[in-house]
Amino acid sequence: MSTPIKDLFSSFLLTELWKGLALTGRHFLRKNITIQYPEEKTPLSPRFRGLHALRRYENGEERCIACKLCEAVCPAMAITIESDQRADGSRRTTRYDIDLAKCIFCGFCEESCPVDSIVETHVFEYHGEKRGDLYFTKDMLLAVGDRYEKEIAANREADAQFR
Ligand code: SF4
Ligand code: SF4
Repeated sequence: MSTPIKDLFSSFLLTELWKGLALTGRHFLRKNITIQYPEEKTPLSPRFRGLHALRRYENGEERCIACKLCEAVCPAMAITIESDQRADGSRRTTRYDIDLAKCIFCGFCEESCPVDSIVETHVFEYHGEKRGDLYFTKDMLLAVGDRYEKEIAANREADAQFR
């Protein structure tokens, strides 16, 4: 418990200053842990939930079967899907939009998808400058999937034993 006399001595002897300098001295020669972003980046978990993507199979066919589970489970109601039957009898989406301004990146859409179609990538460096920039359409989501498929597949494989 501090007393006025103790406080006076403490101020006079610059105790707090020496304590601060001792702390600085202890860390002076330690390895620097500051990351110089964006040149340096911290490692990301394979489960990192970044920008969404729609994936295709190797033959180019889109994975999504328009079951709408992701739309139903999304707590932010950020996903809008419309679907139709194709000539070959399979069902596919005619519209698949995600409003990333609404999305809370919970990952429920990814977890609910039975065919690993909608996923969240490791991409976090994106932004919007005007209203609508973060409204991703099916074509945009497929383009993200096409671009990052290699990394997405590697991350899914790394996390497979925990799924
Ligand atoms: S991450 Fe969550 S909030 Fe975002 S679209 Fe998927 S389910 Fe909806
Ligand atoms: S992305 Fe997956 S969960 Fe969503 S509609 Fe397509 S198949 Fe169903």
